[in-house]
Amino acid sequence: MQFDVTIIGGGIVGLATAWQIQNAHPGIRIAVLEKEPAVATHQTDRNSGVIHSGIYYKPGSAKAINCVKGYGMLLDFCRQYDIPFELCGKIIIAGDEKQIPTLEGIYKRGIENGLKGIRMIDAREAKEIEPHCHAVKGIWVPQAGIIDYRVVANKLAALIKQGGGEIITGFKVDRIVKDKASIRISCDNRTIVSKLAIGCAGLYADHLARMAGVEPPHKIVPFRGEFYALSPEATRLVRGLIYPVPDVNFPFLGVHLTKRIDGGVEAGPNAVLAFRREGYKHLDIHVGELAEALRYPGFVRLAIKHWRKGMDEMHRSFSKRAFLKSLQILVPALRMEDITRSRAGVRAQALDHQGNLVDDYVILQQERMIHLCNAPSPAATSCLSIGEYVAGIAGEKLRGLEG
Ligand SMILES: Cc1cc2nc3c(=O)[nH]c(=O)nc-3n(C[C@H](O)[C@H](O)[C@H](O)COP(=O)(O)OP(=O)(O)OC[C@H]3O[C@@H](n4cnc5c(N)ncnc54)[C@H](O)[C@@H]3O)c2cc1C
Repeated sequence: MQFDVTIIGGGIVGLATAWQIQNAHPGIRIAVLEKEPAVATHQTDRNSGVIHSGIYYKPGSAKAINCVKGYGMLLDFCRQYDIPFELCGKIIIAGDEKQIPTLEGIYKRGIENGLKGIRMIDAREAKEIEPHCHAVKGIWVPQAGIIDYRVVANKLAALIKQGGGEIITGFKVDRIVKDKASIRISCDNRTIVSKLAIGCAGLYADHLARMAGVEPPHKIVPFRGEFYALSPEATRLVRGLIYPVPDVNFPFLGVHLTKRIDGGVEAGPNAVLAFRREGYKHLDIHVGELAEALRYPGFVRLAIKHWRKGMDEMHRSFSKRAFLKSLQILVPALRMEDITRSRAGVRAQALDHQGNLVDDYVILQQERMIHLCNAPSPAATSCLSIGEYVAGIAGEKLRGLEG
C-alpha cells in the first residue's frame, strides 16, 4: 500500500488534518490509520462536547489563534453538512469576591482574543441567564455552544473517503522505519509505504514520536475526567453552560455543568491520574503505563508540589458527596438524587520534566514526519484550523521532497 501522506490516529485532529490536506491537494493519495475498529472512540468521543469561544487562552498562543479561527470554521462546516449544534452560551461565575480579579483577567483575555459580545455581569443578570446559579459576578459568553464531536469526526471520515482517501481501522502502528525515499509504517506484518507521515495519536502521541526517533520535551500523563448525568427532573436547573472561575495553574480543574446536544445535562469532568492511558474506570490498570507515569520526574515533581490538590481530586473521584459539594457551589439546589455517575474520558495531558503542564500545542518535525505531540482542549473546537495549519506544513514538506 503506497500513499503520499499517511496520518496516524483517527481522532478528530487526525481526520481534520487529512481532510484539509485533501482540500489543498485534490487527488493526493492519503490514508488515515486508526488502531481501533472505528475512528473517534477516545478523546474525540469522550469530551464535554463544548464549542469553546477562545476566552481563556493566552493572547497570541496557538491555542487562542486556532480556537477563534477554528470556531468559525467548525460552525461553517456544521452548517454546510447539517451537523446539529447549539450556541446556548455560557456563564463563568465567581462564587465569592476573592475570585473576581481572576474573573476580570479572563474577561480581559477574551477581549484581547477578539471575542465579540462577551460581558461582565452582576449577580442579578447571572440569575436572569441561569436562574438556579449562585454568583456574585460573572462573564456571559454568548458564542459558546454544544455539539457531538463524534458526529463531526464521522463526517470528516466520510468526506475523506469520498475524496478518494482511505480510512484503515484496526491498524495499530507499532514500527516506523525511514529510508531515503520513503517512510514505512507497520502494524504486525502489514506495512504501508508513504512519502510523508503525520502523527496525531492523542494519548499515545509521545510514544509515537519516540517510535519515529524524536524525543518530545514532555511526556503524556493521562488524567481521567469523570462525568455525572443529571436526572431528567434536575435538567431544569441548568439552561446552558455553567463554569466556575478556573484555577490559573490548573485550568482543567473545576467541574462544570454542561447542557448536551442530546438534551441532557452533565456535570464534570474532574481530573484524576488514570492508571492506564485509555483507563476509563477506577480499576483499569496497565502496569507498564502506570510505572512509566510514576517514574517520570515531571510527574513526581507535580505530585510533590500539588499533592494536596491531587488527594482532593482523588477523594472527589470516589465520593459522590464531594462531587456534589463542588456542583452545589455553582447550583446550590442540586441534591444527591439528582446526579448519577455516567461516563469518563481521559485527557492526554503533556507534562514537562519540571512538572509543568504544557499548555500550548506542540508540533515537532522531521524530514518525513510531522508530530502533533500535544493537542489538549480546545483541540476539538479548533480541529479544522489546526488541520489547515498542519496541512500547510505538509504541503511545504511534499514540495521539498519532490524538488
Ligand atoms: C474529558 C475531556 C473533556 C474535553 N472537553 C472538550 C470540549 O468540551 N471541547 C473541546 O474542544 N475539547 C475538549 N476536550 C479535548 C478534545 O477532546 C481533544 O483535544 C481532542 O479530541 C484531541 O483529538 P485527537 O484526535 O488529538 O485525539 P483522540 O481523539 O484521542 O484521537 C487519537 C487517535 O489516535 C489513535 N491512536 C493512538 N495510537 C495509535 C497507534 N499506535 N496507531 C494507530 N492509531 C493510534 C487512537 O486510537 C485515537 O483514535 C476534552 C477532552 C477530554 C478528555
